[in-house]
Amino acid sequence: MTDHIFLSSPHMSDDGWELDYIHDAFRKNWIAPLGENVNEFETAMKAYTGAENIVALSAGTAALHLSLICAGVGKGDRVFCQDLTFSASANPITYVGAEPVFIDSEQDTWNMDPAALQKAIDRYGIPKAVIVVHLYGNPAKLETICEICDTYKIPLIEDAAEALGSESCGRKCGTIGQYGVLSFNGNKIITTSGGGMLLCKDEADAKHALKLATQAREPFPWYQHEEIGYNYRMSNISAGIGRGQMQVLGQRIAQKRAIHKRYMENLQACPLTFQAEQQGSTSNFWLTSVLIHEDSHVTPTELINALAKENIEGRHLWKPMHAQPVFADAKLVTVEKRAVSDDLFQRGVCLPSDTKMTPDDVDRVCNVIKKLFKESE
Ligand SMILES: *Cc1c(COP(=O)(O)O)cnc(C)c1O
Repeated sequence: MTDHIFLSSPHMSDDGWELDYIHDAFRKNWIAPLGENVNEFETAMKAYTGAENIVALSAGTAALHLSLICAGVGKGDRVFCQDLTFSASANPITYVGAEPVFIDSEQDTWNMDPAALQKAIDRYGIPKAVIVVHLYGNPAKLETICEICDTYKIPLIEDAAEALGSESCGRKCGTIGQYGVLSFNGNKIITTSGGGMLLCKDEADAKHALKLATQAREPFPWYQHEEIGYNYRMSNISAGIGRGQMQVLGQRIAQKRAIHKRYMENLQACPLTFQAEQQGSTSNFWLTSVLIHEDSHVTPTELINALAKENIEGRHLWKPMHAQPVFADAKLVTVEKRAVSDDLFQRGVCLPSDTKMTPDDVDRVCNVIKKLFKESE
């Protein structure tokens, strides 16, 4: 049997820097959700992204939750959230008792359609916050979305969980909105096994988020609490992995981009459209993703099954939130007759984009795909 090709798996540095930082934590006995690794991981991420205020947390989901609290979102409020995304973008809206209104995607980036966002404001009024996502690392049309949010003074939360290192408007994704969210889950471009970060424009928000993440202790000699806290701080062990991973981040982005380029070249003759980088933005190409042309007889499920038979992992695009049973009652705003997110879901596939893949591995995936399309002609 040929080797398994993963969609995106953890990829530690060749030099074992991650383990060195973990050993350091053991030597100093900082086996806790604080310590030098946490501080240094934050410092390294500030230097890399240019963000001034960063809080390392136990998950990207925790960062989303805290961003909503910092933005003042509470019971009965509305939050406009990108429809085509992973459920972790939307779930925290319900944690704070607010109501998600889902905003359709546009065809260029597959992310929030600025026209649908404007339509939602016209229809439902000004929301308490907007959550935009950079799907698979590809930046959303932030320039227009920021303009709309600025006009109505709506806090913009950038879910950049998949987009560490991607750029838009000349800046790193996650630093453009009022809040930015990063994730270091096992399959993300760099990982700490589990973890996340919250990036804040305002220092006061970051201070508040740090306090909320550490049980909301007030500065008293005893344990004094004046608001509800959480246990969301990142562990010093996880942060050690993160410190090591920061040193290979540039390399991982280059590898992801090389994988994307090779797929584009090798699959030119297939009836596929690639999720495209827009002018003025750069994607980290976390997952290279394609749409199967409407006139093709191949379905995403068939393609994914054909890959699985060859020990290769492919995946459907995220199923839109409005189509999830758990959000059955939520509103969807689209400017099209049929939601773009539904069309993308029904024709889209994420191709394996593991940075451990060799060029030959990419070609092996391409051969399965080309054979399938040929047979279906
Ligand atoms: C991974 C992911 C998250 C959640 O991050 P965790 O660290 O797993 O909690 C949120 N949004 C998107 C778009 C993601 O891909």
